Amino acid sequence: MHAPLLDAEIYDQIRETARRFAEDVVKPVAADLDRDETYPAEIYARMGELGLFGITVPEEHGGAGLDAFAYAIVMEELSRGYSSVADQCGVVELIGTLLTRYGTPEQLKRLPDILAARTRIAYCLTEAEAGSDLSNVRTTARETADGYVIDGGKLWIHNAPVADLGFVLASTDPAAGHRGMSIFLVDLNAPGVSRGPKEHKMGQRASQVGALNFDGVTVPREALLGPKGRGFHIMMSVLEKGRVGIASLAVGIAQAGLEAALAYARDRRQFGKPILDNQGLQWMLADMAKDIAAARALTERAALLIDHAKPATSASSMAKCFASDMAVAQTANAVQIFGGSGYIRGFEVERLYRDAKITQIYEGTNQIQRTIIAKELIKAAS
Ligand SMILES: Cc1cc2nc3c(=O)[nH]c(=O)nc-3n(C[C@H](O)[C@H](O)[C@H](O)COP(=O)(O)OP(=O)(O)OC[C@H]3O[C@@H](n4cnc5c(N)ncnc54)[C@H](O)[C@@H]3O)c2cc1C
Repeated sequence: MHAPLLDAEIYDQIRETARRFAEDVVKPVAADLDRDETYPAEIYARMGELGLFGITVPEEHGGAGLDAFAYAIVMEELSRGYSSVADQCGVVELIGTLLTRYGTPEQLKRLPDILAARTRIAYCLTEAEAGSDLSNVRTTARETADGYVIDGGKLWIHNAPVADLGFVLASTDPAAGHRGMSIFLVDLNAPGVSRGPKEHKMGQRASQVGALNFDGVTVPREALLGPKGRGFHIMMSVLEKGRVGIASLAVGIAQAGLEAALAYARDRRQFGKPILDNQGLQWMLADMAKDIAAARALTERAALLIDHAKPATSASSMAKCFASDMAVAQTANAVQIFGGSGYIRGFEVERLYRDAKITQIYEGTNQIQRTIIAKELIKAAS
């Protein structure tokens, strides 16, 4: 395994900062945010001040200038507090990475406001007919003398109900399929943009998710991110980091479940003794700890491959797939350890179980992750 690039103290410091913030600021309000489906603007502003957005974005662009290993640490720690907050960190990280890699000097000027949470962003790929199969995107960007006109609709976009700025994948050459796609920075308050209602979700309910429609939306030529026709490639180029982020987020949810279950099993007494004294429950807790450790190790491995500029496609898919399946299975065990209480709103493990489910679906479903792993296996064997 590759070694981390930075001194151990730097990782310890960033873990401590994210952990303190998650414990002191995020966790105490997680149940309320979940119940009320509130966008926690104040929490995001404070994260901006603390430097918890843009972990891998270079310092000259206002980021923390760290690496994917550090990003994984921050995502896990924030998610232990509340995964919706970690998810926001993940979206900002992806957009920050895209802008850093492909942004023009003018576009890069948007980054400080994005990292400070003053500009709210949305990463707009999914459509009604383009979920797992993003090569089927139907939103078009027709070139004009001054720029482009965008028509189409996006679904289930994180932050859509509140975002100011969309990074929109659209077809600039429908005949060329995925080779004819481009990404545009779109002002979401511009004429022709409309929003669907906020979706009411099973979990991660503080994350605002909804639809965006583009009806003849004009954008200038300078709105194009990276080369025309390379949008699909650009979008794919950040997926490995994105999958490391979701794997870490899943580990954080499971870790919170383990901690809650362990504390409850110590306190709860049945048959005249703590339920923790039963070997059956001890083994459930041992399995939780073991599987969390395995998921964390896979995630760290993928992060280190990214940091060492080594192929990380298979490793990041393995981490995302394993960690999210693990989080769903082990938060179910946490609910089981709580007995009936675990099924009641207001108990943390009930929320964690709901929050875990989406990690198997977004950032590429786990069926798609397995397809990627299999493709890489077959490629290596041929
Ligand atoms: C809470 C939430 C937040 C989201 N945030 C964003 C966002 O910010 N931006 C964005 O662009 N999108 C976002 N999405 C969309 C998300 O990425 C998609 O839902 C996801 O990629 C799956 O697409 P789909 O829902 O259309 O499912 P489908 O692609 O229709 O898949 C349905 C089922 O079929 C399986 N399947 C499909 N194709 C195959 C295949 N080839 N082999 C085996 N199985 C297959 C899938 O694994 C799944 O089980 C979000 C979704 C949710 C629910």
